[in-house]
Amino acid sequence: MARVPLRPLDGIDFDAVLGEIGDAVAKDFGKGKVASYIPALKRVSPKKLGIAVSTVDGKEYRYGDAREPFSIQSISKVLTLIVALHHEGEGLWKRVGREPSGNPYNSLVQLERENGIPRNPFINAGALVVTDSLLTHDKDAKENFLNLARTLSGNKKVKFDREVARSERDHGHRNAAIAHFLKSHGNLNCDVEEVLDLYFHQCALAMSCLDLSRAFLPLANQGNDMHAGGNLIDKRRVKRVNAVMLTCGVYDGVGNFAYRVGIPCKSGVGGGIVGVIPRALSICVWSPELDAIGNSYVGTRVLELFTSKTHLSVF
Ligand code: GLN
Repeated sequence: MARVPLRPLDGIDFDAVLGEIGDAVAKDFGKGKVASYIPALKRVSPKKLGIAVSTVDGKEYRYGDAREPFSIQSISKVLTLIVALHHEGEGLWKRVGREPSGNPYNSLVQLERENGIPRNPFINAGALVVTDSLLTHDKDAKENFLNLARTLSGNKKVKFDREVARSERDHGHRNAAIAHFLKSHGNLNCDVEEVLDLYFHQCALAMSCLDLSRAFLPLANQGNDMHAGGNLIDKRRVKRVNAVMLTCGVYDGVGNFAYRVGIPCKSGVGGGIVGVIPRALSICVWSPELDAIGNSYVGTRVLELFTSKTHLSVF
């Protein structure tokens, strides 16, 4: 397959850009709220800010708390989607759609109306179907998912935060309801408890901004994985996965987010957001205070400033 030319990045002083952005967002702390749906996340310091950028020409830039691990939460849904597409190919789309939901990520209402077929793989219902697919095809799915995160990030120390996983399980009644509902519609093959266990663990994966910008670099680099030295992500899937991120990656805030930021992104309620600029770079920002939809308040602002200052967006 022909390689599409990379975008020229030489003229951009990324260290200076990240520094300017860090100064500019200092006034935005205190406007959002740290996730409180589980006790283990409530304890995170609200004032954290980390940014990491990995470019397709092999450079990396960091700002602030970029090396501190945090709970990746829904960002894990991109990694599980990649694995499920590997297992099931296009057949996966019979079980889950790929349209924005326009509803909160943990809503049950739409699922009932649409007969147990979740709108997309990045709302909780869709992610549970995807997780079910991992377990259907691989009895060591949990361990292999952890290994994938380690390989893609080039960091063998990446691990599940057991306390967050336990807290997810102890307070995961809504996710349990969604999983049982999917099962009642015949859209889960595996045991509900097993699916929930893997889902809670994938959400509880602790990774830093640097780990995540490295892990997502293949999505900016036509599937090419510099850290693992191979092609863990099928080139043909890169366009698909990025498209689903652009249209479904930030819950029911996708329109406003695309308007402001203009790149495919995936957020998590731990306050992380990963973004992909095809043929240029991947970026991860972490700041735990969330807006009303569940996206990092400061993180969204950081990405908006980043694409504006560098003139790098997909548009
Ligand atoms: N663990 C969270 C949940 O299942 C993940 C949601 C998120 O990051 N949007 O509710």
